[in-house]
Amino acid sequence: MTETLIPFAEAIERYEPVIGLETHVELGTRTKMFCGCVTTFGAEPNSQTCPVCLGLPGSLPVVNRTAIEYTIRIGLALNCTIAEWCRFARKNYFYPDMPKNFQISQYDEPLCTDGYLDVEVNGKTVRVGIERVHLEEDTGKSLHVGGATGRIHGAEYSLVDYNRAGIPLVEIVTRPVTGTGEDAPVAARLYVTELRDLLRSLGVSDVRMEEGSLRCDVNTSLAPPGAPWGTRTETKNVNSLRSVERAVEFEIERQAAVLDAGGRVIQETRHLHEDTGTTTSGRSKEEAQDYRYFPEPDLVPVAPPRDWVEQIRASLPEAPAKVRARLRAEWNVSALEMDAIVNAGALDLVLQTVAAGASPADARKWWLGELSRRAHDLGTELTALPITPAQVARIAELVAAGTLNDRLARDVIDAVLAGEGDPDAIVEARGLAVVSDEGALTAAVDEAIAANPEVAAKIRDGKIAAAGVLVGAVMKATRGKADAARVRELILERLT
Ligand SMILES: [Zn+2]
Repeated sequence: MTETLIPFAEAIERYEPVIGLETHVELGTRTKMFCGCVTTFGAEPNSQTCPVCLGLPGSLPVVNRTAIEYTIRIGLALNCTIAEWCRFARKNYFYPDMPKNFQISQYDEPLCTDGYLDVEVNGKTVRVGIERVHLEEDTGKSLHVGGATGRIHGAEYSLVDYNRAGIPLVEIVTRPVTGTGEDAPVAARLYVTELRDLLRSLGVSDVRMEEGSLRCDVNTSLAPPGAPWGTRTETKNVNSLRSVERAVEFEIERQAAVLDAGGRVIQETRHLHEDTGTTTSGRSKEEAQDYRYFPEPDLVPVAPPRDWVEQIRASLPEAPAKVRARLRAEWNVSALEMDAIVNAGALDLVLQTVAAGASPADARKWWLGELSRRAHDLGTELTALPITPAQVARIAELVAAGTLNDRLARDVIDAVLAGEGDPDAIVEARGLAVVSDEGALTAAVDEAIAANPEVAAKIRDGKIAAAGVLVGAVMKATRGKADAARVRELILERLT
């Protein structure tokens, strides 16, 4: 079914969007939330299970202390209040990949509450309120076989893998975000980006959206300016940054069409189709589901001692936004240039290259220029290129010292990427160094002048631009190993 849509710009003229995000993060603990099973991704199905995470009768859960610590780290980094005493709760519902038929979660007593995360959106700071950060366990995973899309619809049979069941999962719920207007889709994406970077810096999760260790439910509603908030829809399990933006954009366009036609937005979950960027209707949420929450009777309450919380607070790393602000000043780059570094996934690489001795300008130049092009051509990430920041720093140093020019440096990069070793060894083995012997250069210049008398005459007549032809001839004769600027100087010294 195709939905009627209103073009985004038009929709935003008539309606104010309100967004909200619920982000699930799988914690990177070695073992599961309530048992000792390991959590390695991609293991043989059902090889990481035990009576506790399979929900067998008589088994009893024990809280993973590291998961509590990680959740407190997240809460503190998000400026939350950490509960002095809280409990887990049973959330009762039937789901085939949830072996116990209830999920141990937190309900009215979350571990962390009432914080915020500041996000830079087109030069403005948007303070996203954090309502709660709570801890729960992940479900298993169903695999539907035989259907066209991997969905249960049309499948011949389904398989279930409980390796993921019981992995600690943190849910981070924002307060409704208002007033972002046409920036709402971008604000949603940048919030998740900032949150991902923050979580990564805390070392609590590998935050890989493509592997599902970070996934978002995106809430969107529309209302005419000044009117009470509209009914929201919840686009479930969005698993890329770009898709977070598209989900909000699409829902604004779709809901505007519904409201324009005098219709009513239905409170429901929706599924995002990554290929088209559209959403389709899922489960209606018009009737509130009764999960029959009650305090988990098999677990004692969690009461993190205050001195422990303060220890954790003292161990927090500098927040990514602060790191970026500090580096901008140190490197003397604009906000736009810093965005380019971050968006290219090059921040750590540039940082390490500078630490290895390169100037910030050189480190940026090579990672964002030549190396980004190589990564793009190879269809890989910058971090996956087989070249280290130390090697890039050494190449920059060789260029600064005049041993290499940019063209030769590119040859050295090729050779490093091809696994030929370190830059110095490559320069030596391939004889790539710039010809710095003045005598040899002068001889090459004289030869070029003698071979191109007409060009030489033009330069003598004041047509300096013609010197380029002679520079080209010398570069060719030296197979690119001459310092072009010096060659030009020598030519002009002789002919003017
Ligand atoms: Zn287990």
